[in-house]
Amino acid sequence: MSDFFTETLYDPLGQSFRIDKLYYEQKTEHQHLMIFHNAFLGRVMTLDGVVQTTERDEFIYHEMMAHVPMFAHGNAKKVLIIGGGDGGMLREALRHKNVEQVTMVEIDGAVIEMSKQWLPNHSQGAFDDPRANIVIADGMDFVRETEMRFDVIISDSTDPIGPGEVLFSNDFYAQCKRILNPGGVMVTQNGVPFFQVDEVRNTAIRMSASFSDQTFYSAAVPTYYGGIMTFAWGSDESTLRTIDLDSLQQRYQQAGIETRYYTPEIHRASFALPRYVDIAIAEAKA
Ligand code: SAM
Repeated sequence: MSDFFTETLYDPLGQSFRIDKLYYEQKTEHQHLMIFHNAFLGRVMTLDGVVQTTERDEFIYHEMMAHVPMFAHGNAKKVLIIGGGDGGMLREALRHKNVEQVTMVEIDGAVIEMSKQWLPNHSQGAFDDPRANIVIADGMDFVRETEMRFDVIISDSTDPIGPGEVLFSNDFYAQCKRILNPGGVMVTQNGVPFFQVDEVRNTAIRMSASFSDQTFYSAAVPTYYGGIMTFAWGSDESTLRTIDLDSLQQRYQQAGIETRYYTPEIHRASFALPRYVDIAIAEAKA
């Protein structure tokens, strides 16, 4: 009889993945980390009983969370990733040749070390890129204290429970605003609105207190159970979000990045949200 991992994100329901081979399971200094193989999903990482990433569908999440802000900005040189311990976001950000440095602030060094060892297809050597600046710290402390400035900030965190909770606070968004260069943009992973619509409401209120152009875009990542997930968007430069398709297509061609999910057309379309999400945002901001 095989073992199964059952996700505990929601009390009344969950999803289970057969554990075909367990690579790592430990309580780190911050969270319970598992990495195992599943015949259908490839290697899977979970933290505190919640699916973080799988080899089979990580490209959707990492491409949409990295390339939408990067192509919208058009000339990002300094990028900040909060979280992202598996290395997939670092990999995608570094594919942009104009990028001079990506600083990645991860609270749990064990996630990076175990991802290097057991999820090598996520980082694909990104941790060794001379432009990668890896910092082991709480992202909240870093954004509060750093004197560095960034063009794009990507908060690739766990859900707002445990160590990730602080990364969904007013103060976090305000500090990210402080360290963004003029014309910069920040995006965050913001959960699956069909089950976590309060995350949309809370982020809409908290993030719009710091950014004049605040909204969400979406993609469906199969192992983030419940349909589309939202990515929060915050900038003071509204032209970034409304960039025309021709400009996006030019930037995409010039970048020469081979993607499997992201296209300029999907970029633009991803900002069209289901009406129940639009209503939740409007109610929150009323
Ligand atoms: N794709 C995943 C998702 O959408 O849930 C996130 C993947 S990544 C593994 C999440 C990372 O956030 C983890 O490595 C975790 O250690 C990190 N993290 C959580 N809270 C943090 C904090 N306060 N500061 C920095 N990193 C944090």
